[in-house]
Amino acid sequence: MKNLLIVLSGPSGVGKGTVLKKLLSSSDGYALSVSCTTRKMREGEVDGKSYFFISKEQFLKTVEENGFLEYSNHFENYYGTPRKFVEKQLETHDVILEIDVNGALQVKKSYPEAILIMLLPPSQEALRNRLKGRATESEDEIDRRIKRAEYELSKQELYDYSVVNDDLEACVKRLNNLIKELKGVNI
Ligand code: 5GP
Repeated sequence: MKNLLIVLSGPSGVGKGTVLKKLLSSSDGYALSVSCTTRKMREGEVDGKSYFFISKEQFLKTVEENGFLEYSNHFENYYGTPRKFVEKQLETHDVILEIDVNGALQVKKSYPEAILIMLLPPSQEALRNRLKGRATESEDEIDRRIKRAEYELSKQELYDYSVVNDDLEACVKRLNNLIKELKGVNI
């Protein structure tokens, strides 16, 4: 059975990180793609696990070598999906990419079999509260993220599926069932 390339997007603050962690621990059939970024490492992040933290020079060199499946630039930083890393993982696993809307649409163009899933907040209000609750970011940064979240949500109809993160367990179950269904496994 062919392994799936699953692209999971959703606005900042929707709880993607937590959902992904739970999803990955629910089956060893999944592999998470680790992206490259030029942004600064946040507290608690680990190089090579959260992201590969690289310099702008390294990033642009990899772009020239066609080393990214997709890449984008936002919040004045670059983010990209390493092509070889993903292709290697696809040989043995369903690969999950956690990328933004623009990146997801680029992937769909170059790899039409990719499954695009958007994670939704239970409401706009819930998302705002989550973003405001993040102590690490300034008011300006929060406002920018809210605007960005609205933009991401406006692209929902271009996605193959949307899944609401109202309850962590339920959300992960929905994702697992959806993936099994797509792979033709009885659930
Ligand atoms: P953060 O800086 O909060 O970790 O991520 C900011 C945004 O960049 C998120 O929406 C995240 O999904 C997106 N992102 C992370 N990795 C990649 C990537 O490899 N490619 C693209 N296009 N976006 C990414």
